[in-house]
Amino acid sequence: MPAERPPFLPSAGTIDLGDSYRVLIHSLKEGEAEMAKKTIDDVNVQGKTVLMRVDFNVPLDDQQNVTDDRRIRMALPSIKSVIDRGGRLILMSHLGRPKGEPDAKFSLQPAAEKLGELLGKEVAFATDTVGDDAKAKAAELADGDVLVLENLRFNPGEKDGDAEFAKALADMADAYCNDAFGTCHRTDASMVAVPEAMAGKPRVVGHLVAKEIKYLSEAIANPERPFVAILGGAKVSDKITVIENLLNLCDKVLIGGAMAYTFSLAQGGRVGGSLVEPDKVDMAKKLLEAGGDKLVLPVDTHAGDAFSGDCNKQIVEAGKIPEGYEGLDIGPKTAEMYAGIAKDAKTVVWNGPMGVCEMPPFDEGTKAVAQAIADSGATSIIGGGDSAAAIEQLGFADKVSHVSTGGGASLAMLEGKKFAAVELLDEA
Ligand code: ADP
Ligand code: MG
Repeated sequence: MPAERPPFLPSAGTIDLGDSYRVLIHSLKEGEAEMAKKTIDDVNVQGKTVLMRVDFNVPLDDQQNVTDDRRIRMALPSIKSVIDRGGRLILMSHLGRPKGEPDAKFSLQPAAEKLGELLGKEVAFATDTVGDDAKAKAAELADGDVLVLENLRFNPGEKDGDAEFAKALADMADAYCNDAFGTCHRTDASMVAVPEAMAGKPRVVGHLVAKEIKYLSEAIANPERPFVAILGGAKVSDKITVIENLLNLCDKVLIGGAMAYTFSLAQGGRVGGSLVEPDKVDMAKKLLEAGGDKLVLPVDTHAGDAFSGDCNKQIVEAGKIPEGYEGLDIGPKTAEMYAGIAKDAKTVVWNGPMGVCEMPPFDEGTKAVAQAIADSGATSIIGGGDSAAAIEQLGFADKVSHVSTGGGASLAMLEGKKFAAVELLDEA
């Protein structure tokens, strides 16, 4: 293959680009949405035990208080679907990154207590995952009861996808439900080996996963056009595959955030002290070549002489950032241009802030884009942890179609990846 060839092609070809690209090209095709899956509502749960993988990976303070219960609240529709219809529910999740052994500061007990508060009923908690306490409490469940198991990652088998560990979990229940979108791109035991061990029993998605798939897969596979992607954030390296995939699917891909400066370097621009990735300049060149005028870069930059809100500031043309200054946001002309393109779009995918949005006034570009998306009436999908937080903080969360709950998982989906954890579940 010639060295200068772009790293991807708009249609599947015969060029050998290595396995990852072959897989990518295969999964790129427009119109190829993730197969619709059966949901928990489709399962007759009366008197049955349902094992549900949820994402209760909530932040705890040093007194073990849950400081943000959003993830627990978001799981409530699936939880209620089971218990309101007389099912017996066992919930399993990870929390934090314990090292495959019990570690009190990562206990799920506070999350179980919070769930009890939110449901207004008693929620049982097992001090282990597949041990005597879990087995005894699972066996005691009556119709409508809920049991939360201790942190899956207290067992090395979870990360290892261990079959024996998975079987011990699988044996506790009559049906499996995956409502942990944030973990869907992983192959941990609770995501893949457990439902594999439950072949022949109902294996379905929860409400949260169903909604994520609907937006991230279907809306992207069959977008109303113009279809515009807006990509920002800190690093190009995090998002190269996302840019590649979206260039194939979108009418325009707008670039903001610090990653714009690596593109600027690739065009021979001056970037001053901006956050750049010199080792990604070649990749940026290839993307520029392949993207043509689909790939839109900032025309101006809001630069500062220090990484601080009260530094000295200058608006400069893109590629003309003076020494001693760094780019901290898109400039006002770019913000206006991007807002205009977003307003005319019928489908918008946004991932990554346009600047250092935690540090006003360098949140202006991000705000302008968020406002335009909110005003556009387009089907709008916000993915990525920091972008989702920004849209919430700016108060636009209910003006967009979908804010994804899974940072890494939503990126993987925008990359066009298929998830083993979802593929193996029952089709509708
Ligand atoms: P997401 O979580 O939405 O995928 P990222 O994690 O990729 O987004 O990027 C978010 C981070 O990028 C924010 O912390 C933001 O401050 C940073 N960032 C954006 N623009 C710049 C910039 N010009 N210089 C330095 N950091 C930036
Ligand atoms: Mg982030």
